Amino acid sequence: MKVVSTIAETRAALRELPRPHGLVPTMGYLHEGHLSLARQARRDNASVSASIFVNPAQFGPSEDFTTYPRDEQRDLALLEEAGTDLVYMPPVEVVYPPGFDTYVTVGALTEPLEGAARPGHFRGVATVVAKLFNVIQPDRAYFGQKDAQQAAVIRRMVRDLAVAVEIRVLPTVRDDDGLALSSRNAYLSAAERERALALPRALATKDPTKARELLRDLEVEYVEVGEFEPKVLAAAVRVGGTRLIDNIVLEGEET
Ligand code: AMP
Repeated sequence: MKVVSTIAETRAALRELPRPHGLVPTMGYLHEGHLSLARQARRDNASVSASIFVNPAQFGPSEDFTTYPRDEQRDLALLEEAGTDLVYMPPVEVVYPPGFDTYVTVGALTEPLEGAARPGHFRGVATVVAKLFNVIQPDRAYFGQKDAQQAAVIRRMVRDLAVAVEIRVLPTVRDDDGLALSSRNAYLSAAERERALALPRALATKDPTKARELLRDLEVEYVEVGEFEPKVLAAAVRVGGTRLIDNIVLEGEET
């Protein structure tokens, strides 16, 4: 497994790898959710890359960019075990060099839910993913249903800008207790984690009114139906200082 940090190194490494090529974009601090994407990419493609980049452009000024959990050595070992060929870990100035001033904005899909709660978030996501697609030029890219609105936004960007990549969205991986895996779960104390279990329990009702009732002891940012494909019941809550999101598919099969 090769680890690269510049655009030139990445392009040179990719020239040596067989096609089709699959990409798994991540912010690191990997868990089974990320690894399920990497393993599927391994099955579908002749070569696989992952990116690890905590993207400042998708964090608001009062959010957790500087404290976002990081463990590069562990991440690299896990990616190697999952059969990844190439890991792209650029420093911030490679992605956003001085004078960087071009952004991708997706429209109405980015307005409700996470878009309303985190102004500018999806502009940051769409921009960094577009740039990753330009650097890596994957045939396929893998995203999690855990971030349902993000997956919908990426699909729309790819369709609208005719990006030559197939987007695959895989089901949310949960812990045995039902909590969706997230790098941010590392912030939770044992007591907070116990309280956080109300989130998957509430969403399992598939009913916004019942879900709000079950979440009454947490600080709820939203519990709403997201009109994506597939349609979801999505929620964002705060438990202590930690912001958690989750969703459940309301119609059809999960992806
Ligand atoms: P992140 O590192 O949080 O940006 O996530 C990287 C990718 O992993 C995104 O496509 C997420 O949707 C996906 N992902 C995160 N958590 C999970 C999970 N519990 N199950 C499945 N995919 C996930």
